[in-house]
Formats: sequence, structure tokens, C-alpha cells
Amino acid sequence: MTYLDSAASSLVPRSVIEAVNEYYEKSGVNIHRGVYKASAWATDIYEATRKEVSDFIDAKNCDIIYTRNATEGLNLVAASLSQVDKELSDFNGYSAWKTGFQSGDVILISESEHHANIVPWMMLQRKFNLEIFYIPVLDNGVLDFQSFLHLKSVLRNKTVKIVSLAHVSNVTGVYHDLSVYEAYAREKGAIFVVDAAQSVCHERISQTGLNADFLVFSAHKMLGPSGIGILCGKKELLTVLPPYQTGGDMIEVVAKDRLTFQTSPQRFEAGTPHIAGVFGLSEAVKILQNFEQSDMEKNEEELTLLLLERLSREKGIKIQGPVYEDVRDKKIKKAGLVSFTLNGVHPHDVGTIFDSKDVAIRVGHHCCQILMKVFQVPATCRASLYMYNDENDIENFFKALHEVKSVFGL
Ligand code: PMP
Repeated sequence: MTYLDSAASSLVPRSVIEAVNEYYEKSGVNIHRGVYKASAWATDIYEATRKEVSDFIDAKNCDIIYTRNATEGLNLVAASLSQVDKELSDFNGYSAWKTGFQSGDVILISESEHHANIVPWMMLQRKFNLEIFYIPVLDNGVLDFQSFLHLKSVLRNKTVKIVSLAHVSNVTGVYHDLSVYEAYAREKGAIFVVDAAQSVCHERISQTGLNADFLVFSAHKMLGPSGIGILCGKKELLTVLPPYQTGGDMIEVVAKDRLTFQTSPQRFEAGTPHIAGVFGLSEAVKILQNFEQSDMEKNEEELTLLLLERLSREKGIKIQGPVYEDVRDKKIKKAGLVSFTLNGVHPHDVGTIFDSKDVAIRVGHHCCQILMKVFQVPATCRASLYMYNDENDIENFFKALHEVKSVFGL
């Protein structure tokens, strides 16, 4: 198979599978509670992996919370913030949080967000009668700065509680320059959330550099196993935020007349976690850390340019996001994924014919229905690249594309 769907889930290296197996073979028992060696060993690795992850994303003054995935990280933040009833204003800067959510408060996201970074906020919108504003996206996938300036004036007298944006779009691959939106969040005393699901796999991101109050990602897009993800959050917030789920492991004291919780991160990890997943994540982080970053970027950049350049010579292709020249001339920074449509052919037919040639691409709305509407397409085809792809894969991509064209007489 020619695998061009790493933006959905990357392939899993053998050593990651072995790390998962190692947990089951050497221990396989529960963490934290056991006083015996097999439990203590697993607990040590589970806890030590927090530090590895924290170093990997250059996090400072943060806690690393294990989640199931990026989606759960965002749900955790939304659910926990929805319970805030007392003020968070004892924290420098979060002036919008003098109270919990009030009717008319604003959440600012963009039109290019994944549903994971839209729907949890929509649920809060319904519950608290909030307003969601969307930073518009230009045809090339870049966030529309001029419209944002206009939005700023519209929101001048409103309380903006949350600014939550993806670092890299899973449809266009565009790296969003988040600094200006981070600065805006600070100006409004809002909480700044970064969805790093599509960036953490491609480059060494820095929580400190982004100054994200919360940052989420999933292991399965960065060589790790499925079912395990990360929420990195600033300690000053996590220390006071209410729990997300409740039950075992997250409590300190439970009595008939008393209930107290653990401190973060345990407070946010109710129940038995995905221990094997953490073992796999630890190995994935080690691989990415040992991989020469520049080699990885160079390979992806060269293949992306090759893919875009050859696509630009194909009749009937429309690219959603930056085109070849934008990327070649470094006008727009883009990760190794390309969305396109072929005139007159539904993306699902393209995907099915690609599959008949053993080329795996993703077709559909990519959990970005709002962006599909902006681009005026029902769906797109998306080819995404990772460190293990090579020119041969691009060759197979075009063989499959030519097969589609020949089937449809194009
Ligand atoms: N955000 C972005 C930008 C994504 O690409 C994805 C996965 N497609 C998610 C969030 C959600 O990731 P998960 O399904 O692992 O929770």
C-alpha cells in the first residue's frame, strides 16, 4: 500500500508496538495503587513520560494530562471551564474570567477549525447563550487578518473568554501564525487554546513559544498508539479548575460528609488510564526526538513541492489551500498535506479508485464542514505525507490519479 493518510493517523513503528507489548509482558497491572514491583515499575514509566512529553513540546510551568486524544483534551477544557463559578481573576491577565460564562460572552475560533475545536464550544454556546465568532479564512487557507481587525472592533466591548485555534489546518496544511491571536487573547484577558494535532507531528513545537494556556494533541498522528493524547495546561489554571470526570484516582478524601480532589494532573485523570498507550507514546516521543528535524522537514517539503508542482500541471485539479508557487516561494508555511478536488468527479469516487490502485488517501469533509462551505465544496481529497514517504509514493499517487481520469474519460 502507498500510504498517504498520515494526517488521519500515522503508521506505527515496530519499536512503538514493542513498547506497548513490553508493558503487557513485563507488568500489565494497574498503576498508582499497587505496592508491589510490577505496579511500581509501570507507575514509574507512566509518570516519567509526563516529563518526556513536557520536554518534547518545550512546556514550562505546565502539567501534562493524559487524555484519549486531542478531542478529549478540548472537551476537558470546555467542560472544566463550564463549571467555573468563582472568579479566576487572581491570575495575572485572565481578566475575562472575573466570573464563569455569562450570556453574551464570546468564544473566538476560525473557519478552518476541526470539529473537535468547534463542537465543544458550540455546546457551551447552547448552555450559556454565548456567541461564537469565526476568524474568516482566505482562499489560500490563511486566516484573514484584515477581517480579524474588523472583528476586533466588533468585539471591542464584549467579553472574549476563549481564543482557540489550530496551529496547522488538517485540510490546507497551513501553519497559522498564532502570535497575533495570542496577543489578542492577552489583551482581552481570555484563555488561549492551541490545537496542535497537526503540528506536533511535523515540527518541534514550543508551548512556551506559543504561550498556549492549553495545548492538545493525539499520539496516533505522531507514530504513537491510538487512544492516548495529551492536554498540556498551565499549572496556574489547572490548580484551580474543577475536575472533568470524577471517580477513582482523582480524589484525595471521600467521606459521607467530605469530598476533596487530588491536585493536577491526577485530578483530571479519573479511572484507570491507557497505561500501554503511555508506554507507546513515550517511545514515539523518543523516536521523534532522535530524528534529525531538518531531515524530516526537508523530506516532507520536497515531496509536498513535488506533489503540488505535478498537480499544478494536471487539468481539472483545484487545490484547497496554498498552491505550488505559494509554497515554493515560501510565502505560506505549509505542512505535508494537500487537499484537492478533481472537476466533475466526487472525491469518494477518487478515493475508491485510488484504493483499487492500493493508494490510501482520505476523502470527505475531514471534520471541517464549515471550511468546506467556505471553499464551496462538499468534500475534498487529501494526500498527507510523513517521514516514511518517498518519491515512489508520489509516482503511485499520479498513476492512481491518471486511472481516475481514464475511468471518467477526462
Ligand atoms: N484537530 C485537528 C487539526 C485534527 O486534524 C484532528 C484529527 N483529524 C483533531 C483535532 C482530532 O484528533 P483526534 O481525533 O485524535 O481527537
